Amino acid sequence: MPTETQTDTAEAKRAARKATSEAVRKSAKKLHEVVKYPDPILMKKGELVTEFNDELAQFVEEMFDSMYAAQGIGLAAPQIAVSKQITVIDISFNERPEDKLVLINPVILEREGTLYEEEGCLSLPDINEKVKRAGWVKVRAQDVKGEFFEVEGEELLARALQHEIDHLHGVLFIDHLSRLKRDLIIRRIKKLQRNGDW
Ligand SMILES: [Zn+2]
Repeated sequence: MPTETQTDTAEAKRAARKATSEAVRKSAKKLHEVVKYPDPILMKKGELVTEFNDELAQFVEEMFDSMYAAQGIGLAAPQIAVSKQITVIDISFNERPEDKLVLINPVILEREGTLYEEEGCLSLPDINEKVKRAGWVKVRAQDVKGEFFEVEGEELLARALQHEIDHLHGVLFIDHLSRLKRDLIIRRIKKLQRNGDW
């Protein structure tokens, strides 16, 4: 059970995120709406990016704004209906600039260890389940200028990298669950859809 201090910290964090989200909503030039499961674009592999120009840089900024507005720590282009291999991650949620990551055409080179933690997804709102992931990954990607770089991540960053790179291949976190659990979630979503709550 969380102590009072932990609860206060979590509360403060939530409030800070909400404030950032609202500020971004007001200042953003363009916000993209996040598409929800079962939109077919989420199940499709994204195309490789071959042109690294101003348009791409602008789109990446729009992705960050859309991610903060939706209060997420990661967003993949297919989630805003653009079927391309682009993802943005910021596990600090706009607290530490050095945590802002843009990964274009990313590939997981190495993985080690295991994590089993709860995940959620902006395309599957209010659904949280424990997912088995590698505990550490090394990724190679291109930046907005097309330069190749490598990034390593553990814990939350490792999970974010794997979750977002999955999106670029049409894979959702529920695809990692047992058939039974996945079917239960899909049934729950269908019911929400019927009631107009999804
Ligand atoms: Zn997701």
